This record gives sequence, structure tokens and C-alpha cells, in this order.
Amino acid sequence: MTDGQAIQNALDGLNVGKIWFDEPMSRHASLKLGGKVDALVMTENEDQLGEVVQRLRAKDIPFLPVGNLTNILVRDGGYRGVLLWMRGLDQAIYGAQENGQYFIDAQAGATLAKVVMLAAAQELTGLEFCTGIPGSVGGAVWMNAGAYGTEIKDVISTVSVMDGQGKKKILQRDEIAFAYRQSNLPADVIICGVRFNLQKGDGVQIRERMAEIMKWRQEKHPLQYPNAGSVFKNLPGMPAGRLIEELGLKGVRRGDVQVSKKHANFIVNKGQGTASDMITLITFIKEKAEKEKGVKLETEIVIVGENL
Ligand SMILES: Cc1cc2nc3c(=O)[nH]c(=O)nc-3n(C[C@H](O)[C@H](O)[C@H](O)COP(=O)(O)OP(=O)(O)OC[C@H]3O[C@@H](n4cnc5c(N)ncnc54)[C@H](O)[C@@H]3O)c2cc1C
Repeated sequence: MTDGQAIQNALDGLNVGKIWFDEPMSRHASLKLGGKVDALVMTENEDQLGEVVQRLRAKDIPFLPVGNLTNILVRDGGYRGVLLWMRGLDQAIYGAQENGQYFIDAQAGATLAKVVMLAAAQELTGLEFCTGIPGSVGGAVWMNAGAYGTEIKDVISTVSVMDGQGKKKILQRDEIAFAYRQSNLPADVIICGVRFNLQKGDGVQIRERMAEIMKWRQEKHPLQYPNAGSVFKNLPGMPAGRLIEELGLKGVRRGDVQVSKKHANFIVNKGQGTASDMITLITFIKEKAEKEKGVKLETEIVIVGENL
């Protein structure tokens, strides 16, 4: 068990962008719920990040990189250790290669929205499927985010990472095994940046596709309430949302969290929801799915931290 004072001592004197101690995740997570993290650290560049990682490693303090916190649930007892908030590393640039291919180099904390907009502005096609996914580039690679039959793995060429000792290296896409909403990167690896491979496209068509996707999302998803996107992974041949709907669970509530009436694979926070309400509801859905349909639902969202 790490104590908060040990973390303050470990970070003391380090030149980092910003540190919040004892910070409630309900302030930052898209779900607007979650317990306190001992320290939330936002560095401004990779050198600072490396220094923080080395210091934490030397003191045996647990850490976890996070991006936009749109797919993570921190239990109400909070996270004992440091969340490395990648938001400070948010640059994205585009360019052309000698072979006529185009690329975007994005730091891990850049939002997918920023990268998609940059691609559209430069009439580069390939990233339209990311329209409306509210995560960061690093989170998207870690989770192998996807939509409409395309996944992040389909558009990346290299991933730059920092290992648990703070050492940097560049991985070719084929060195990483991606699967449905997961990558096999070791748990202590931090994604620092990504090169996306893109093609020159038709600017009008790109923007039309983006608008179409945004409209679809607004119609189908309960975006008026805090949420973390799809809570469960789809089953082979069966969207998890349809299964939950067939179980009659739309609108079912625990405390202030509710299975969305609009899309059954979304759980929304109606105001004062807690992580334990969310976990109680997730457990209830899983048990019902197993009992009545014989299927094991797996969560897509990442659950970390301790119970109260
Ligand atoms: C309204 C809504 C719609 C969504 N639609 C989709 C969708 O269509 N498709 C889809 O796939 N997802 C969707 N999501 C889920 C989510 O946006 C994506 O999974 C996104 O890629 C997560 O990125 P993030 O930066 O928010 O990650 P976080 O929630 O911050 O973290 C998620 C995981 O990634 C790890 N991680 C984050 N950054 C790094 C890093 N730099 N290095 C190493 N590990 C890291 C974290 O440790 C954690 O395990 C949706 C979410 C919402 C709220």
C-alpha cells in the first residue's frame, strides 16, 4: 500500500507541468464519477515524463498512463499511486513521405478529434471512422479503438513508447498484437506518440463522411448524460446492446446510474452516480446475461482502483 505522503516526497523537486494531489476522478472522467487518485501528474514533454517514471519506479510507486478518461472507471476508494495524464503531450503534425504516402505524427495526449480535424483539413483520408470517439491517441491505441469496421491498428505505422524504466523506443505496427479493443503492450509501457498512415483523399467526401458519422452518433448515443461509451464488448455476431435490450434491462437503475434508454450498451450517470453503483449494475447485467442467455459479457471499459 502506497501512502500519499510517500508519493508527495517522491515527486518533490521534480520539474513537471502540473500535479494534483488527492484528486477526485469524478472531476475529470467522462462518467463524472470515481474516487480520488493519490496524484494526477500532467507532464509537458517526454523528458519530464521520463524523469517522473524513473522517480516513481525507484520508489516502487504504482503508476498508470491515462488519456482523456473516456473509457476508464476508478473505483470509489480511489487509485493508490500516480495517474500520468498524457494531456500535456498533445501535438499533431502532418507530412508527406518520399513514397508518396502521407502521415500524421501525433503525441499520445492529442485528442482523436484534433487528429481527425487535421486530417480533414489536409484532405487526408483514413481516420474518418474516429469521428466522435472522444478519447486520446494513446488511449485509442491501447484500446485498439474502432468503429464502422475499422480499428486504429488499420491506420498506424509506428508507435513510440516509453518502458517502465523511462527508456524510449519505436515499435513497428507488426510488433504489436492487436485484438478487439485490446493491444498486447506490456502493462508498464506508456504510449508517447503514433504515426498514422494516410492517403490523399477528396476533402468534400471526407467531411461528408465525418458529418454522417457525427449525426449517427448523436441519434444513437445518449450524449446528453455523462458516460464512457460502450460498457461491454460485443459478442461474436451479437452486439452487447441488443443482448442487454433483449434481457429487458433498458432503463434499469442502481442509485443514480442507469442503463441508457437510448442505447442499452451505455450506462449513464444521472447526476450523483458512484463507481459502486456502476459496478453493481455491471455485475447485475453480467449475471443476468449468463443465467438467461448463457453468455459471458466482458467489460470494454477499464476498471481500476480500490473499493471504499
Ligand atoms: C460517447 C463515447 C463514445 C465512444 N465511442 C467509441 C467507439 O466508437 N469506439 C471505441 O473503440 N471506443 C469508443 N469510446 C471509448 C473511448 O473513447 C475509447 O476507447 C478511447 O480510445 C479511450 O481513450 P482515452 O484517452 O479516453 O483512454 P482512457 O480512458 O484515459 O484510458 C483507457 C485505457 O487506455 C490506457 N491508456 C491511455 N492512454 C495511454 C497511453 N498513452 N499509454 C498507455 N496506455 C494508455 C489507460 O491506462 C486505460 O487502460 C467512446 C466513449 C464515449 C464516452
